Amino acid sequence: MVFEFVTHHGDHQHKNEQHELSDEEKKQQAEILRESLGSLGNDLSYTQLAQFLEANSWNQEHAKHQLESTLIWRQEKKVDFCPVATTKNGLPLLVSVRGFKYIEDGNIQSNKKLSESAIRILNYLGGDCFHKFDKEGHPILIDRTGYHQAKEIGNDVTGEEIKHFQVACNEFLNRVIMVEASEKAGKPIHKETIIFDCTHMGLWQFHMNGLFKLKQVADYVQSYYPETLCRLFVVNAPSAFLVMWKIVRPWLDPKTLDKVQILGKDYKDVLLKYIDSESLPTFLGGSCSCSHLQGGCVPSVNEGRIPFLVKTEDNEKIASVYNSDIMLEAKTNPDYIKVVSS
Ligand SMILES: [Zn+2]
Repeated sequence: MVFEFVTHHGDHQHKNEQHELSDEEKKQQAEILRESLGSLGNDLSYTQLAQFLEANSWNQEHAKHQLESTLIWRQEKKVDFCPVATTKNGLPLLVSVRGFKYIEDGNIQSNKKLSESAIRILNYLGGDCFHKFDKEGHPILIDRTGYHQAKEIGNDVTGEEIKHFQVACNEFLNRVIMVEASEKAGKPIHKETIIFDCTHMGLWQFHMNGLFKLKQVADYVQSYYPETLCRLFVVNAPSAFLVMWKIVRPWLDPKTLDKVQILGKDYKDVLLKYIDSESLPTFLGGSCSCSHLQGGCVPSVNEGRIPFLVKTEDNEKIASVYNSDIMLEAKTNPDYIKVVSS
């Protein structure tokens, strides 16, 4: 799904940083940016400011421009009130999770609080799971890329629906998963490690409408959620992957491309360099099997590991991921929009 639209890399390593700033210099730059934003900057964390600066190679003017557009977009779309699932509010998941405390281990499943569009999208995805942390404390997202139903995503999901879904997933990442990762690491963590498993991938997935949906999402994420990727590993990549890669690659920011490693079958040692064996599923060379839950480490409807989600009349036909009563409740109930310590 989801955050997977940030792809590539390979053999060459082009460095675009002139010189690495010290932590102190980064803090100073963040404060300069905060001041230049006036009252808009009051509520922003150092991490948020640093993300936009980093995305713009620490250019103040460019960072300010991108951050202002993002804040205006968030206000217009009321993104701060987008509900996110936590253990406390019990909202249904949009991504399966394993190994966190602010959100209980669980799978995507049928639920009357989801919208009809969320169910439709979830049934077309290959299977995603936030699965534990890497050695540096970044949360890991594993995606069964080879099982995405690209044609159905292209033809049977609107741009509006996929954007709502993507935003809800990114907000969940920032407001639940990253909060826990930062607490656990004792320092701000705002990047994730992603693994795309291409097992089962074939030319049947290369559908132009599907790829264009991918582009819409990639543009959206790169504009409003910059610098959230630490590393992306594409594993079990077949030669067919390179066909798609040629199309997708120009859509992506060069800084993103530097973080991507495309690997064939020999990926295990590379993954184990960054991820402890107990945090890596057995099917990727680690020792984790998550046998306590149906679907194992990365549940997938399209691989037949968990049941397809079933729609009922309770699932409203709206573009948001949750039904309208949940969206309304989130405007007044803090439990619906963030992790609230008990
Ligand atoms: Zn596992």
